[in-house]
Amino acid sequence: MRGAVLYGPRDLRFEERDAPKIIRPTDAIIRVSATCVCGSDLWPYRGINPVSEPTPMGHEYCGIVEDVGSAVTSIRPGQFVIGSFFASDNTCPHCHVGYQTSCQRAEFISTAQAPLLRVPLADGTLVPTPDVPSGDMIPSLLALSDVMGTGWFAATAANVKPGSTVVVVGDGAVGLLGVLSAKQMGAERIIAMSLHGSRQKLAREFGATDIVTERGEGGVARIKELTNGIGADSVLECVGTQESMMQAIRSTRPGGSVGYVGVPHGVEIDGEKLFFAHVHLHGGPAPVRRFLPELIDLVWKGKIRPGKVFDLTLPLDQVAEGYRAMDERRAIKALLRP
Ligand SMILES: [Zn+2]
Repeated sequence: MRGAVLYGPRDLRFEERDAPKIIRPTDAIIRVSATCVCGSDLWPYRGINPVSEPTPMGHEYCGIVEDVGSAVTSIRPGQFVIGSFFASDNTCPHCHVGYQTSCQRAEFISTAQAPLLRVPLADGTLVPTPDVPSGDMIPSLLALSDVMGTGWFAATAANVKPGSTVVVVGDGAVGLLGVLSAKQMGAERIIAMSLHGSRQKLAREFGATDIVTERGEGGVARIKELTNGIGADSVLECVGTQESMMQAIRSTRPGGSVGYVGVPHGVEIDGEKLFFAHVHLHGGPAPVRRFLPELIDLVWKGKIRPGKVFDLTLPLDQVAEGYRAMDERRAIKALLRP
């Protein structure tokens, strides 16, 4: 089979790779219906996280189970399934309290931009849909594999409640789906911080009531102005830079919560500023597996359509163009069809 392999900065090739096989009895092999390029794939693509050897890429996936190992009991060939970017057993003490990305047996899935994918710990990792979905539902189901689950975790970690005032820092796919999550959880006011016209439009479609284009100091001042000097109940940090993290903390009211899901790059928090901010901080790699049953149900019933974040669809053999389009910010998120 052929799949995506990263050789070095901006050198992404679609080339022959070994087809995956069952290695352990708890594995499953999936025929991928759709996969995509993640914002986090751009870190190695841009050379910020260097790659030392040709590296297969991709961690978002959904598809049809092709084969399962002898110890797999709940997943069967023919089922349409979705899983998180981390495989998890769903039984250990950390999974038990809903932190499957910290599973004692967690394994990162990193070869999904290909027609076939091996998923370890299939029983714990994969969640089947009620039936094989229609084609138009597949983008929204694929989004649950990472970006929607991550936006949902940001809103959960930020303690969004009916009637809340929410700020979302970051207008990438995760930030936009953080807006959708806050709306679904009943937030009354959702302020999206975004500089870009097409992203502002999608944020409004997903439920944003206000758009703030200022950043840093000016952004915080604008949030304070919009909230009568109080700050927001909940702030979703979906970027991972020093500026975005401090913007999030400083936009939160005393007693409020920050949910942070942007992978930190060079973020340092001043203990004294944190002490006097009086805010709750919670975040990390989203335990997407915890939310999959509920989110599949919402998509299946047509209550949410997170697949709208895919504004570019390409055949998998044009995966390199998907990376380029996202790198150059011509696309929010690229969906790939094997
Ligand atoms: Zn576990």
